[in-house]
Amino acid sequence: MSVIYDRVALIGLGLIAGSMALAMRQEGLAGEVTGYARSQETRDTAREIGLCDRVCDSLAEAVADADLVVLAVPVGAMGEVMAEIAPHLAAGATVTDVGSVKQSVIDAVGPYIPQGVHFIPGHPLAGTEHSGPRAGFATLFRNRWWLLTPLPDADPQAVARLDRLITAMGAKTDRMEATHHDLVLAVTSHAPHLIAYTMVGVADHLRRVTDEEVIQYSAAGFRDFTRIAASDPTMWRDVFLHNKEATLDILGRFTEELFVLQRAIRMGDGQHLHDYFTRTRAIRRGIIEAGQDTGAPDFGRTPGAKPTA
Ligand code: NAP
Repeated sequence: MSVIYDRVALIGLGLIAGSMALAMRQEGLAGEVTGYARSQETRDTAREIGLCDRVCDSLAEAVADADLVVLAVPVGAMGEVMAEIAPHLAAGATVTDVGSVKQSVIDAVGPYIPQGVHFIPGHPLAGTEHSGPRAGFATLFRNRWWLLTPLPDADPQAVARLDRLITAMGAKTDRMEATHHDLVLAVTSHAPHLIAYTMVGVADHLRRVTDEEVIQYSAAGFRDFTRIAASDPTMWRDVFLHNKEATLDILGRFTEELFVLQRAIRMGDGQHLHDYFTRTRAIRRGIIEAGQDTGAPDFGRTPGAKPTA
């Protein structure tokens, strides 16, 4: 494939930025990729593994002359990073982000975007529970959705160019309004993560009275919760603090459903439980048919294999 941006600056060098760097290199999509992370340790690791062409020691150096700047830091850090890079951006550059929440990023970043610079918020629906500069891999985005939430006055050519980069990295793109994105993601990602964190927290309390049996005899259901609950604490703290309303709305609905199921169990209403589980099984089938997961037992994992979802 051919070069889509001459110079791409990745701000934050974790799972998502690292995967972008590797995917862009593999497909030859960027002339040069520069990178910056807050800590010396992360920058040193990125240099050691050759994550991008040039790891810079300042934000200003990283974004200088870049025609695409990708903000790949936790959602709560987007505004401060943007404020610092704003004076150093090239005219005509595009700034995008990969944050898991969209409206709060638009609110935090938007005011600092200089005249003549394009801002196109985005969110790849791809990830793992691993984080940091060593966590990335080139195929992370393959066949995954990458949602763009451009503002109504966004430049169509700038959006189309970013779209081409994302598609060339293997993802499928779609457009969405930011607050709608935040509601959809509260259902499909944010609330499920909070429930997983809670379930593992409950098991942790129990572990103290069951003498480690919770760990020793951990069954598939619980193991899947622990995988999700191993996700990066900073990233997920920021997701909940910045998608507060939608997450609380979905958790309220979740609690209501839970009470209904709890009552069905108490009343011995097997029909209700069976009907409910039949409906939820159909949703799982739909996700597999849409190519968003594998139908293989145990999510197609082979012992010791690197998780990819
Ligand atoms: P990550 O692996 O934890 O990496 C985050 C990076 O951001 C690190 O390099 C960190 O640097 C850097 N950073 C943090 N605060 C910074 C600051 N104030 N200034 C400069 N750099 C800073 O995170 P990730 O999983 O790639 O997530 C990045 C973004 O993608 C987040 O907004 C997240 O919501 C979004 N996202 C994540 C996933 C997922 O599953 N992980 C999926 C889709 C979208 P240090 O190492 O030096 O601290």
